[in-house]
Amino acid sequence: EAAITALAEAGRLNAVLTVTTERARERAAAVDALDDQERARLPLAGVPVAIKDNICARGTRTTAGSRILDRFIAPYDATVVERLDAAGAVIVAKTNCDEFAMGSSNENSAYGAVLNPWDETRTPGGSSGGSAALVAAGAVPVALGSDTGGSIRQPASFCGIVGMKPTYGRVSRYGLVAYGSSLDQIGPLTRTVRQAGHVLAALAGPDPRDATTVTMPPFEVPSTDASLQGLRIGVPRALLADGVDDDVRTAVERALAVMVGGGATLHDIELPHAAHAIPTYYLVATAEASANLARYDGVRFGYRAPASDYTDLASMYAASRSTGFGAEVMRRILLGTYVLSAGYYDAYYRKAQQVRTLITRDYERAFASVDVVVMPTAPTTAFRLGEKVEDPLQMYLADVFTVSANLSGLPAISVPCGIDGQGLPVGLQMTAPAFDETTLLRGAAAYE
Ligand code: GLN
Repeated sequence: EAAITALAEAGRLNAVLTVTTERARERAAAVDALDDQERARLPLAGVPVAIKDNICARGTRTTAGSRILDRFIAPYDATVVERLDAAGAVIVAKTNCDEFAMGSSNENSAYGAVLNPWDETRTPGGSSGGSAALVAAGAVPVALGSDTGGSIRQPASFCGIVGMKPTYGRVSRYGLVAYGSSLDQIGPLTRTVRQAGHVLAALAGPDPRDATTVTMPPFEVPSTDASLQGLRIGVPRALLADGVDDDVRTAVERALAVMVGGGATLHDIELPHAAHAIPTYYLVATAEASANLARYDGVRFGYRAPASDYTDLASMYAASRSTGFGAEVMRRILLGTYVLSAGYYDAYYRKAQQVRTLITRDYERAFASVDVVVMPTAPTTAFRLGEKVEDPLQMYLADVFTVSANLSGLPAISVPCGIDGQGLPVGLQMTAPAFDETTLLRGAAAYE
């Protein structure tokens, strides 16, 4: 009940699309009915959780921030929802997000922008902006987001909280509205690194309904005596040279000095193909999105244009899709269809896949001599609402530090590392080898 009140108080942020009151009351009553021993066995007993509105929970509206799914009621639970339930958590809300998780500012939502609780004239980041804003505002201790190119980490950075993208395959995508299937991962947004570890432990593990999930190695929540002693930190200096706000660079440098004080060592590393990460990501992501979004045809799901707007099947598809999808989603479907088309496939899509492999190898090489890689999460702190909407390319470029982890499948976390000259939070990103979330969380918790 306290969480439901807190959600209402945070209402002006526009972070919530649905309060799942009934479901929450039922789940909370079920946890209350347990005896102490049973409750102690549930790692998240009674913890209120908000989930991004591109994650299905049976019987609740699931819009993915799109008008085309405005009245879509999910007929089943996502695996992460089942696992939250099994851990005793209480899902209290579905959160606002960029349409189909496409965006970096939450301004592509069909349901309006979300305000950053630090400064309501600014974006909370995106696409999991609603999830990040709610945790930052203290309305819920935990939220789930999805991260295809930074959508958990960048809003965490803009809102001064912790956001983690697990290794690809660590958490089931079953029941997540697909954007870029080879990039998408669900993960936690929390106040502390330790909380992120406990939520990940509840979500992680193989799922027969998502064939890309893996069994080994199992994830273990790191012990509480996290220490930086001996942690080898790789710093890609060349990447930080330009295009990064001075205040962000200063905060990250200061954080590195703190880590050295705690016993970590710094090592210069090179990620020679990092410069190509943005174009590679926007080719792969849009190609996959164009295929995934083909299912919204006005027949099987959601919105269909009124009968007066079409004359035959093809014009029904066209009318439903062009009024159901927003401008950014259509832009990406066009881009994705183009790069997959005969004649352009080799020049764009295949090339992007090749560069993706090179980006992955850069990290493999770096991890031969370091335990984690550290860089800023984003080149700036939270920008103003409206500042980049007219310029999609500028918006894409802001993802420069986050997309590589998705292209290579690696786990990465954003933790708060300071405040800029305007009083806005700066995020530090740490990346670890595949399936080594334990080192990632240990390093991040020790810094925190
Ligand atoms: N900003 C990136 C995009 O627009 C990442 C989105 C995401 O991670 N879902 O594609």
